Amino acid sequence: MNKILKTAILSITLFSLVLPTAKAKGDYYPSMTALYADNKEGVHYTREWKQQEAKYSTGSSLVADSNIFVAALHGGSIEMGTTELALATSGEIDGFNADKGTLSNQTKHDFFNFNGMNPPGQNGNLHVTASNYDDKDALRLVEQNKVGVAFHGCTDAQPTGGYNGYKAILIGGLDTDLKILMEKRLKQAGFNAYITNQELYDGDMPQNLINKTSRKAGLQFEMTTSMRASLFGTNTREKRRTTTNSDFWHLTNTIREALLEYEKGLN
Ligand SMILES: [Zn+2]
Repeated sequence: MNKILKTAILSITLFSLVLPTAKAKGDYYPSMTALYADNKEGVHYTREWKQQEAKYSTGSSLVADSNIFVAALHGGSIEMGTTELALATSGEIDGFNADKGTLSNQTKHDFFNFNGMNPPGQNGNLHVTASNYDDKDALRLVEQNKVGVAFHGCTDAQPTGGYNGYKAILIGGLDTDLKILMEKRLKQAGFNAYITNQELYDGDMPQNLINKTSRKAGLQFEMTTSMRASLFGTNTREKRRTTTNSDFWHLTNTIREALLEYEKGLN
């Protein structure tokens, strides 16, 4: 009996020691590796990525690979709308409706999306914070690009410091010059966008996946719920990409043009 009791006490002690660390970050899994070991691809989640390639043929001009990487690390039904924004920003709009707008240029960028496929409201355990994001394909893609941009979602109530969360775009990450340019271009385009210093959303950790570009700096967007919801006619995983509205294309094109402007300045 003593032995059983001791084992029970030891188990409880170990459990208590382990649990707070995992809970401190608010995530169920400490890494994508742990998530993949416990969930089934194609059932609980899907992944999609593309590495755009340079193309040349005699008589045609060289089409160079861009130096830009775009990601939705918590897409699908986790942070709704971020997958659609990442796809369109990377220039991949197959299957999107085109009656309310389209891309202003044809440039394509590398992308990586992780999509939660559980029913809405049951995808919380599929959120692994960007600084613990050890997906090998996402890492390889971000590391071989100079510029990185990741789309995330937060609620309207989460921005603090006097900022209004209604249709807000918080800009974070370690790529300071890109953040300044992006804020300027988004504001000029009429969006409620600002560079955030808020601890949870400023994306200032070097371990954050988007800061692992070849320049060791990237940009992340935290778009509030009302911001993302305002871009689609029907805000469901199945219908978002076929019900994009003119604001979706206005936002996507503004971001794409700012990224291209910034990339040009790096060369
Ligand atoms: Zn996120």
